[in-house]
Amino acid sequence: MTDIDVRLRGVTKRFADFVAVDAIDLDIRHGRFVTLLGPSGCGKTTTLRMIGGFEHPDAGDIQVGGEPVTGSSSRHHTRMVFQSYALFPHMKVSENIAFGLRMARMPNEAIRRSCAEIIEMLGLAGQEDKYPNQLSGGQQQRVALARALVTRPRVLLLDEPLGALDLKMRKRMQIELKNLQREVGITFIYVTHDQEEAMNLSDEIVVMDRGRIVQSGTPEQIYGSPATPYVADFIGETNLVEAVIASRRDGRIVTSSALGEIVARPAVGLEARDGDPVVVAIRPENLALGEGAEGLSNQTRGTIRQISFLGAVTRVIVDCGGLPLSIDHRGRLAASAGDLVPVGFSGDDVVVMAPQV
Ligand code: ATP
Repeated sequence: MTDIDVRLRGVTKRFADFVAVDAIDLDIRHGRFVTLLGPSGCGKTTTLRMIGGFEHPDAGDIQVGGEPVTGSSSRHHTRMVFQSYALFPHMKVSENIAFGLRMARMPNEAIRRSCAEIIEMLGLAGQEDKYPNQLSGGQQQRVALARALVTRPRVLLLDEPLGALDLKMRKRMQIELKNLQREVGITFIYVTHDQEEAMNLSDEIVVMDRGRIVQSGTPEQIYGSPATPYVADFIGETNLVEAVIASRRDGRIVTSSALGEIVARPAVGLEARDGDPVVVAIRPENLALGEGAEGLSNQTRGTIRQISFLGAVTRVIVDCGGLPLSIDHRGRLAASAGDLVPVGFSGDDVVVMAPQV
């Protein structure tokens, strides 16, 4: 028995001449919270809809629970929750939730028990006799989740389910969703373009760009070891510095750049030779200036152009050899605009990657 719930191999979807999803391979393990993340139009929703059996791939195979997604059988394994909730307006909360079980001709007593359990789990007790238009957005989304979960699918598909909520409710529902997923233990596949939401919720993030998967991994892996400049820039902030590979030293790559020599870690899967152009990604929080730069393995210097106090950190823009670097400084800053300051960073914290294609 494999613990892979969802398997995609060479899955491609075209709309006329446009390739929306381009030969993707993906394995999703049982009980994981997996997020498809990327900007609008990168193919996330189309991928999710194909897993749910709402769209059919032009090429490739999709399996859910070991069965091919073709027609009705696989539909038993998945349920989808939409941003728009898609509740039945003329049905009460309890009727909306029970609908799928009634369709499956479950006995009344079993329906009552299943619904009571899920209503309790989603904090909807007391709302059973209301109609959707008598509920807040957050409550409506909970009803949509309850309606999907009550049928005990193997995999729950969620398409920007919090997109219609205000920021505060969205944050609250993020915590609830994560707890809910742990409690029910089923696989959640979640689509969002919001990188913070993806970081918050996911066991694994699958980053997509123009119909392809560019990297997948835990939030820590994606943030700490981005595979491409696109990933580094899309998830969190980063300084991207153009460089050329000069040599290798103890598993590290030595590059030359406008900042001088930079020694850094190679990105996962980097295939590059000496003399090749590369990009070095340095997060603002990994750059130190002034006294903090002392002793770090990479050193340069630059002129402070701008200082902005942001609360937890001070964002300092330093011009290093014509390159503006964003630096997040913690604590008091003993320097002002116009000062020439040392800037340093550790080779452990920066990644060398192939230039964006
Ligand atoms: P969003 O967050 O905006 O929904 P997405 O990453 O989910 O973006 P998709 O909805 O999967 O992207 O769409 C991928 C591309 O395919 C887009 O360029 C979109 O315009 C196109 N597309 C999607 N569905 C159709 C369709 N039914 N007919 C034609 N083009 C489509």
